[in-house]
Amino acid sequence: MLHALTIDVEDWPQSSLNHDLPITERSVHNTRMMLEIFRRHETHGTFFILGLLAEKFPEVVREIAADGHEIGSHGYSHKAVFQIGPDAFRDELKRSVGLLEDITGQAVRGYRAPDFSVTEESLWALDILAEEGLEYDSSIFPVRMRRYGIDDVPRHMYRLDNGLIEIPMSTVVMGGRRWPVAGGGYLRLLPWALTQRAIRRLESEQIPTIVYLHPYEVDPTELSEIEWPVPLKTRLTQGLNRRHIAGRLDRMLSQFRFGSVAEVLEESPPVPLTTLSSSVVAG
Ligand SMILES: [Zn+2]
Repeated sequence: MLHALTIDVEDWPQSSLNHDLPITERSVHNTRMMLEIFRRHETHGTFFILGLLAEKFPEVVREIAADGHEIGSHGYSHKAVFQIGPDAFRDELKRSVGLLEDITGQAVRGYRAPDFSVTEESLWALDILAEEGLEYDSSIFPVRMRRYGIDDVPRHMYRLDNGLIEIPMSTVVMGGRRWPVAGGGYLRLLPWALTQRAIRRLESEQIPTIVYLHPYEVDPTELSEIEWPVPLKTRLTQGLNRRHIAGRLDRMLSQFRFGSVAEVLEESPPVPLTTLSSSVVAG
């Protein structure tokens, strides 16, 4: 089974600490380290790129595209969808897609919200994405977390009434509840044996795994060298296990088949889901 490898291309201080900070050169360096890993494994993924980063460092966007990866939008400013509201969301979407398409000459088909901020209060975003010609969204975490996530939506890929395909983050069901696996902090902090078991379990359910990562996760020294103050707890949790991520990626890409979201959609078509679109999206 082909699983999806997805990368949210952004700069940690600007995306996670303060949206007013400048995008730093470090994000370019980290993205190149990640590209090198994928080159070694001859694997393509989908890179959801932040508009601000594309604007400041268009050359790295060209490098990603030249390596044959799919280009998607991660919005423009990294502000949460439910905070900026429908009008600013549409503006950010058009601006980021326009930038990426101008730089690469490649049509942008997919979108991922900053911090998975398509939640029950911002489901209108799914209609705006369809209206603006996007083919898929990969922003919903199908489990309720502290800051994001929606309960009671499917764990597999589905097509909404408005034509948009939703590609939810991966979860497995254990002890009667859903657990996030295979992305970001979950991929960094859970033992590899558990992640491996989770991917196998998803395969047995015929659900492709959606792995998501950020370039900064392969940068073990960023949080000790950063020039802005970082709260101690953030420093510990956000920096933990970064030095293991490159090795973990090597194992994952050797043991399982990975590709871009576009490639996964060709192999595992999403199922139509009219009930969700009428009950959840309308609400
Ligand atoms: Zn992000």
